[in-house]
Amino acid sequence: MKPVRTRFAPSPTGKLHIGTARTALFAYLLARHYGGTFILRIEDTDQARRVPGAVRQIIESLSRFGIEIDEGPSIDELRQVGEYWEGAPALGGTKGPYTQSLRAARYREVAEQLVAMGVAYRCDCTAEMLERERNEQMARREVPGYSGYCRDRNVSADVPHVIRVRIPAGKCDLVLNDAVRGRITWDDLSLRDTVIMKSDGMSLYHLAVVVDDHDMEISHVIRGEEWIPTTPIHLLLYRALGWEPPVFAHVAQVLGTDGKKLSKRHGAAALEQFFEAGYLPEALLNYVALVGWSPGKGEEQEIFSKQELAERFSLDGLSASGGVFDDQKLEWMNGVYLRSLANDDFLQRVRCFFPEGAFERCEEELKSIAGLVKERIKLLPEVPEMVEFLYRDDLVPDYAAALKKGITGPIAVALLTDALEALDGATSITHEYLEQAFRGIAERHGLKVGPAFTVFRISVLCKAITPPLFESMVALGRDRVMARLRSARDWYGQ
Ligand code: GLU
Repeated sequence: MKPVRTRFAPSPTGKLHIGTARTALFAYLLARHYGGTFILRIEDTDQARRVPGAVRQIIESLSRFGIEIDEGPSIDELRQVGEYWEGAPALGGTKGPYTQSLRAARYREVAEQLVAMGVAYRCDCTAEMLERERNEQMARREVPGYSGYCRDRNVSADVPHVIRVRIPAGKCDLVLNDAVRGRITWDDLSLRDTVIMKSDGMSLYHLAVVVDDHDMEISHVIRGEEWIPTTPIHLLLYRALGWEPPVFAHVAQVLGTDGKKLSKRHGAAALEQFFEAGYLPEALLNYVALVGWSPGKGEEQEIFSKQELAERFSLDGLSASGGVFDDQKLEWMNGVYLRSLANDDFLQRVRCFFPEGAFERCEEELKSIAGLVKERIKLLPEVPEMVEFLYRDDLVPDYAAALKKGITGPIAVALLTDALEALDGATSITHEYLEQAFRGIAERHGLKVGPAFTVFRISVLCKAITPPLFESMVALGRDRVMARLRSARDWYGQ
């Protein structure tokens, strides 16, 4: 078997869509499975669509996602195309450059070779001519497309021209043995003579992709199914050039739970948005790998480390039908990963979701209840609100919310007075001490613990939904607990 070399070839047009990130992940896992090489190639032949800074975004998002790039744009390349940033990783490799706009000379060389072979030809039709042709075709109710006017005109290289590939008409003998969809054939290629090089000498995707996949010795091309209809152009070029095509695996789209292509309408659709929403990269990677890929029939395991995914990954498990992206399932999985984090790791990850300075104000206290907090959340941004009682002493609780199920103002006052007394007499407060004392207080007043504890919870932790009451009180410390009990007693006493 040839060395496995896979590539991810995004166009630098903006944030990475989660579906695109999944394509990258599949290519990465396949490379890792075979101990091969994963390559990042920047496909920026369409300079008009290029978004400055997008290369950085791609590289950083992949890295945050957990995908290590083995070969990709070097620092020098980034500088040449104006995409360098301080701290950019030193990629590079022996098959570079990995940015298409820097490979123009090579594409021109191959285009000329194709013209010389008669597989491609020069075309000097002007935009006006093409427009007229198109209008006439439409008037005749024909499918519009280039007529092939220049096919045999031998247009000179000295006049402004594009280069088109000659697409054979009639019965087609091209076969795509797709690793996902099996054998695909075309009776008649409805493609018209596609432009592969523009008049400014810049290659278009269809030529660049073939040249690069060949020159970079790519063994497997994993990409979106939207490229299937134009894959015959690539197969034609491979055949004409006498190059062996890579294995193609065209993956189906990522769909929302409504069966429609996943987009902004479904909420987050860009990889970065999921990080911002507080998903753990390793949970997201695990989940995304299972959208449209399965480790085998009847396999019930769903939690896989990156290492395990790489061991299990194979093209056979890719599904030809769209993979459904279910936010709820992802949330569940995120919860599983959250609970398995070591407390210190959890604290470091949640830090950035706190308001400025807040984390530092409660780091120690939060550490002591981290295990309990982790179990009660699905997403990291829920934490700051849940533990607000730790870093804010100016919260105004909704005291009235506790006035139900037999609790009246005077009863609340009596409960809080007893609680203050219990704390006053204690030398140190522990969970056990508090629980025993507060249960005793509820009993003495002939109350169920539920409503009585709600008074304490709202008074001290300022909310109805919080981490466990007594552990939280211990974390807060006796003085702060007592101060809050006193304020609460004042309120209920009014
Ligand atoms: N640059 C293409 C895209 O962004 C990649 C297609 C391919 O992988 O061949 O969709």
